[in-house]
Amino acid sequence: MKTLGHWIGGKAVESVSGNVGPVYDPATGTQPTQVALASAEEVDSAVDAARRAYAEWSVSSLARRTAFLFKYRELLDAHRDEIAALITSEHGKVHSDALGEVARGMEILELACGIPEKLKGELSTQVSTRVDVASIRQPLGVVAGITPFNFPAMVPMWMFPLAIACGNTFVLKPSEKDPSAPYRLAELAAEAGLPDGVLNVVNGDKTAVDRLLSHPDVAGVSFVGSTPIAKYIQSEAVAHGKRVQALGGAKNHMLVLPDADLDFAADNAINAAYGSAGERCMAVSVVVAVGDTGDELVAKIADRAHKLRIGPGDDPSSEMGPLITREHRDKVASYVGGARDQGADVVVDGTGYTVEGRPECADGFFIGVSLLDKVSPDMDAYRDEIFGPVLCVVRADTYDEAIALINGSRWGNGTAVFTRDGGAARRFQLEVEAGMVGINVPIPVPVGHHSFGGWKDSLFGDLHIYGNDGIAFYTRGKVITTRWPDPAESGGINLGFPTS
Ligand code: NAD
Repeated sequence: MKTLGHWIGGKAVESVSGNVGPVYDPATGTQPTQVALASAEEVDSAVDAARRAYAEWSVSSLARRTAFLFKYRELLDAHRDEIAALITSEHGKVHSDALGEVARGMEILELACGIPEKLKGELSTQVSTRVDVASIRQPLGVVAGITPFNFPAMVPMWMFPLAIACGNTFVLKPSEKDPSAPYRLAELAAEAGLPDGVLNVVNGDKTAVDRLLSHPDVAGVSFVGSTPIAKYIQSEAVAHGKRVQALGGAKNHMLVLPDADLDFAADNAINAAYGSAGERCMAVSVVVAVGDTGDELVAKIADRAHKLRIGPGDDPSSEMGPLITREHRDKVASYVGGARDQGADVVVDGTGYTVEGRPECADGFFIGVSLLDKVSPDMDAYRDEIFGPVLCVVRADTYDEAIALINGSRWGNGTAVFTRDGGAARRFQLEVEAGMVGINVPIPVPVGHHSFGGWKDSLFGDLHIYGNDGIAFYTRGKVITTRWPDPAESGGINLGFPTS
């Protein structure tokens, strides 16, 4: 069995803690790898490497930083397939989806390549006689990133390319469930010429996270994961005087208005609910069918759901792979039975699914897709984030009833409306309480130069991730007021508050 350690100070470092966690191949249920779980002392050595590297990296020229970023971009481009295969082997998602994840992560790296434009600051001349004012942004220091299992490459890439482009050094604590892809990202960064210690990977669990949160040399924390942990990260980071952005879970609603093209809506509901087996924070998990659209829409979704091909992620004919662990698969399945008991119609029941013709997948963490109709807001399947291929349909008589339902949710990550009515779409975009809105777009993940983030229990902290918010997060402002007096001028004494 392979043991994955840490990446500290530009080299592989074996763990000394003696603690390890299992890393499964979800398609077969086997455990080819174990991952080191760092002690607090191992975290300290990663932070120390980052702190030492900061002294030089923070003052390195923009030309040097961008030379690295462009080279790194080319190297990742050449390794897309390899990184995607690593993702599939530990996460389970199909190869094409994993390639999409790498591409979306590289968008942020491409934004980072343009960092000189973003950091050029502002200058006002002559705000008073011979007085100029400049606003500049400087790095924070050592920044930590703590990331979830569902996008093992993309979410780290939402963070470290921009953080290091801004002159920070970085310690990444990836999910212990699928750590190989983020580890490979760090190896490739070194190959592209990143100085030792600028990007470090420390593998681990709560022990590692807690040390990062309390370490006096960590200036800021970016977190992406579930809502309870996001809340904890924010409060702990703030208690230790750190800047923090903590993105949490979601329950994303897709509103289908009576005038929508129902075939188009059904296709999009399928893609957004069952892509990556529903393990996306922007997955559509609730369709709200308004007016008399319900019966026809449910029939169209069910028809498509029955035809989906579910199998191992490395099989090009699979459209959906397994879930991340056996426990998670069983928990997802329990929501289907629970919804039936609580009065929902189970139109498609994906529990008990097995892959045909692949005996090696018999112990894989597979589940089929499920479609629950006539779900009500008091049911567990509606209230909880299931994070699996289970789509709930809620019926609403009117637009007003539908928007009240969506705005009553504790989460506000993404949402979408499907309609041909521009006025209704415009009203929705202004009234809905969510951070990312799609109009006939079911998974409105913003492109790299816009920022990503939800509202309510989907984000703790003020700034969204990547885009301009990401640059603001990874820098702090400084304003410099300059006067070069005329040698002929005398200063004079004036104890009054300076005005222009
Ligand atoms: P998770 O919260 O269990 O884990 C995320 C990270 O936190 C991991 O690195 C993990 O090691 C660490 N962690 C877990 N428990 C901890 C604890 N008690 N104390 C300290 N650290 C702890 O999330 P997950 O299961 O890996 O990922 C799925 C969740 O992430 C879903 O809720 C999903 O919606 C959310 N997510 C959100 C976004 C977003 O942008 N809002 C994006 C992707 C995933």
